[in-house]
Amino acid sequence: MGNVKLNGYLTSIIHKEGVKKQFKFEAKLLKQNGTKDPLNEKRFTKAKGLIHRYPDRVVLTITNQCFVYCNFCFRKHNWEEFEGFDLNEAENYIRNHPSIREVLISGGDPLTLSNRELENILKRIKDIPNIKIIRIGSRVLTAFPQRIDEKLINILRKYLPLWFAIHINHPDEITELFKTKARMLIETGITIVSQTVLLKEINDNSHTLEELFCKLVEIGIKPYYLFGCDQAEANEDYRVSIDKALRIMEDLRFRISGLCMPVFAFDLPEGGGKVVLEPDRIIKRVKNRYIFRNFEGRKIPYEDV
Ligand code: SF4
Repeated sequence: MGNVKLNGYLTSIIHKEGVKKQFKFEAKLLKQNGTKDPLNEKRFTKAKGLIHRYPDRVVLTITNQCFVYCNFCFRKHNWEEFEGFDLNEAENYIRNHPSIREVLISGGDPLTLSNRELENILKRIKDIPNIKIIRIGSRVLTAFPQRIDEKLINILRKYLPLWFAIHINHPDEITELFKTKARMLIETGITIVSQTVLLKEINDNSHTLEELFCKLVEIGIKPYYLFGCDQAEANEDYRVSIDKALRIMEDLRFRISGLCMPVFAFDLPEGGGKVVLEPDRIIKRVKNRYIFRNFEGRKIPYEDV
């Protein structure tokens, strides 16, 4: 993989500080340390392209194509070694596991597929009786918002309720076109939540994240996850310590409402699953008596039942 080729949209915003550091891919980065498959997704792959890690949901990696390739991607291994996706195998597996109620359609970016391919997948998944929730994970709004057009909207509206989990890391990625296309999705009845990766020297401060999360809520997008950067190959330069992440979360709690706050989470190595962390509020506990630290840092006693 050499330098990233940017589409016209990204070329028009790549000069922005918060954007260019994410994609200025340099081949030397791949030589750095890190784990090939940090979430050990291979181990949890139960059918071609289907990952089953948690009891109630699966991930379908339907493609390895993206609109842009992020330096800190945790699925870099798929860029060159993608083993493909088989809809028949995936469908059979999901039908045979009634505890699965949610499907996350991911990749790569699912919206790189044609409308016809995407609709075929949505229809087949929607027809599975145990599936109640379909989520699409995509970077389309930040990397190629033009992809959201009337034709696509007319397909998506047939498969409501539908959730979009968008990837966005910096307020510089919120353009007028981003807002217009997000509104189109929302007006169709699609719920949009955001996923942000905490990235060193890109968004690892509370001011940048406050601006990002508040602007998203103004548009009608719920900030959902702030992820620690995974220990994937070539991610070392982007990782932020847990201590710093928690200080940022503490600061954000002080400044913005719960509606604007995502949860901070990161994935444990070897497929150990997600861990959600909050700054510690309990200073001391003796039986049912607690001493809490409030959002201002004051110590406040509390007597529990
Ligand atoms: S858009 Fe997502 S899957 Fe594609 S390179 Fe970026 S992080 Fe990886």
